[in-house]
Amino acid sequence: KKTQRIDRILGNLGYGSRSDLKKMAKQGRITLNGSVVKDSGTQCHPDLDVLEVDGERVVYREFVYIMLHKPPGVISATEDVREKTVLDLLPGEFRVFSPFPVGRLDKDTEGLLLLTNDGQLAHDLLSPRKHVPKTYHADCVGLIGDREAARFAAGVELDDGYVTLPAQMEVLERGSYGDGSPRTTIALTISEGKFHQVKRMLEAVGSKVTYLKRVSMGPLALDEALPKGAFRELSAEELEALR
Ligand code: URA
Repeated sequence: KKTQRIDRILGNLGYGSRSDLKKMAKQGRITLNGSVVKDSGTQCHPDLDVLEVDGERVVYREFVYIMLHKPPGVISATEDVREKTVLDLLPGEFRVFSPFPVGRLDKDTEGLLLLTNDGQLAHDLLSPRKHVPKTYHADCVGLIGDREAARFAAGVELDDGYVTLPAQMEVLERGSYGDGSPRTTIALTISEGKFHQVKRMLEAVGSKVTYLKRVSMGPLALDEALPKGAFRELSAEELEALR
């Protein structure tokens, strides 16, 4: 890393616009290695210098890794003219990093969505050759059981002729819908990510998904303490496991 202007560093970290930072410096709110810097254009080395704003050390970093509990009704895109996106759920201090979703969940699907600006990690997790397993919980119409599990294990043919890679299915619960018709809640683990894959796999065995939630992606599991729509940064251990 090399030195950069303080207003550049702080601007990228979401502390304010260039003119905000100029004002903050004039007000004596920014210090570099313990001395007040009145000029926000002063050069600073992000690792070697100690930069503080209002007495708080500025933590410089390049990447963010965010676990979001995606709620239904928002789309897995970074911007959209009409629809609310997952980025709209993040405060400005995270949006300045320009994170993007690692893969997509349908608008009506809930659960684990990783957002990052680390293109390399995203690429590795999404690479079709890596077969990163993703586990979903799905409410499905009808009685699903061993027969369907065996078909998923062998690979099923989707509506466009594509035959899926082996997937693991487990029954989590049997119940019924409001009208009394049978419902099976399953856990399904797939190692690829075709368009609407889980929904289409259930259609291939004569069922239909009525509720879908992703609970894990590779070693990363959705933190059940996160309410729908909430997020947190990954822990060091979670990030290490993903790499
Ligand atoms: N499979 C689907 O059908 N939808 C999703 O959102 C994710 C996987």
